[in-house]
Amino acid sequence: MKKTKQKFKGNNKKNNSKKASGKRGSSKKEIVEAKCIDIDAEGKGIVNYNGQEIRISNLIKDETAKIEIIKKGRHITGNLLKVLKPSPKRVKARCPHYDKCGGCQLQHMSYKDQFQHKQLMVEKLMKPFAKVNSIITMDNPYDYRNKAHATYSYKNGKIVSGFYEEKSHKVIPVDRCLIQSTKADDIHKTIRKLMKSFKMNPYDEDTGRGLIRHVLVKVGFATKEIMVILVTPSTMFASKNNFIKALRKEHPEIKTIIMNINNKRTSMVLGDREKVLYGKGTIQDTLCGYTFNISSKSFYQVNPKQTEKLYGKAIEMANFKGNEVVMDAYSGIGTIGIILSKNVKSVIGVELNKDAVRDSIKNAKQNQVNNARFYQGDAGEFMLKMKESGEKLDVVIMDPPRSGSDEKFLSSLVKISPKKVVYISCNPITQARDMKFLAKHGYKAEEIQPVDMFPQTAHVECVVLMSRVDK
Ligand code: SAH
Repeated sequence: MKKTKQKFKGNNKKNNSKKASGKRGSSKKEIVEAKCIDIDAEGKGIVNYNGQEIRISNLIKDETAKIEIIKKGRHITGNLLKVLKPSPKRVKARCPHYDKCGGCQLQHMSYKDQFQHKQLMVEKLMKPFAKVNSIITMDNPYDYRNKAHATYSYKNGKIVSGFYEEKSHKVIPVDRCLIQSTKADDIHKTIRKLMKSFKMNPYDEDTGRGLIRHVLVKVGFATKEIMVILVTPSTMFASKNNFIKALRKEHPEIKTIIMNINNKRTSMVLGDREKVLYGKGTIQDTLCGYTFNISSKSFYQVNPKQTEKLYGKAIEMANFKGNEVVMDAYSGIGTIGIILSKNVKSVIGVELNKDAVRDSIKNAKQNQVNNARFYQGDAGEFMLKMKESGEKLDVVIMDPPRSGSDEKFLSSLVKISPKKVVYISCNPITQARDMKFLAKHGYKAEEIQPVDMFPQTAHVECVVLMSRVDK
């Protein structure tokens, strides 16, 4: 096989296969020229290889490229070697780590082309339901993430922090992540420096030795409050007090520091056990004029600027008159329910995560919201019980995780039969699936609004209004 590696201009993101053909279980490689026929939901370019669709990172529709095809048994993958005919949509990725890191998937496209791609993706899925509004874009599509996670490791004898290389457990050192809060990068930098002076080692996955596995930084963009979560393999942390003191001295905006214990060999960042080392264990942020307490394990939207636009649109779609009983399903820390509480008679929130529910109850109280109740439980179970006890709902706002809702929830919902369902989702594929169910059971999509909450990545948020069709 011709050695072309040194000439590769394009992304070499997934070039993990090292073995040449021949041995049993080894892979066979072939270099082909192919045209990209589309981009998939993960931002990968699709090419046809012998009638099979292969997905290639960093490739744009209509581009022709030299591709390395890797066959392992029946499993075929491909790596981009060189773009032969670049698309006019192609730009040079701003981030120097883009080729290796899996965090962003669309940095090789101009921002305009990124959101146009997302628009098309939503249209493809949702056009059968209704017309899709133009996507709500972001003015500055960088520095937006308020939650920054980094894995700590050694590289060439130096403490580094960054992200796992895609599909591997090798840490790529990243000093500056362009989509995250710059403040978080500063804190990671200080932690690396302090670890050296305190002789604290990053955790070694192979030996199980070392102290710092990951560090998670949450930033309240409006309040500037910061939470630092140190993920360690055990509760042993000898120089804890002095380390905390030194860290806070450099960053007085750190309001709380938490030690999270994760001794499992897992790709999950956070373990179950936690100990608050400093502060209250929560930070606050302000959204749409309300203040929210956020704890380490509860969900809070990662792009607050766009979240305000998203929530604003959801409330506009619901078009409340003031007398509605509203359900905020998958309510997290209660943001949506609390923000819309002034427009309605009452709010019932349901959320699985105990910490998030605790936050939401505290948040309602703190904002003097007296007409919202939050319950802990599975949204489907809760909805079923509501149906069985004959409860009435006028509007359901639902915001499930990426996997979408479930039949238990949806089938109870259509029986309770609220007038309107406002469905927010970060995964239009499962959202369209659930919309199909609702459409089959007496609901009609009235408005579909994509929102770019995650620029540079392939993800897109979407809020949909479905109304009960009254016969
Ligand atoms: N509406 C909130 C949270 C949305 S994220 C916001 O805008 O911030 C989705 C939430 O669903 C998470 O808080 C997650 O903990 C919760 N969740 C996941 N599975 C659930 C289930 N089966 N029942 C109820 N809540 C669930």
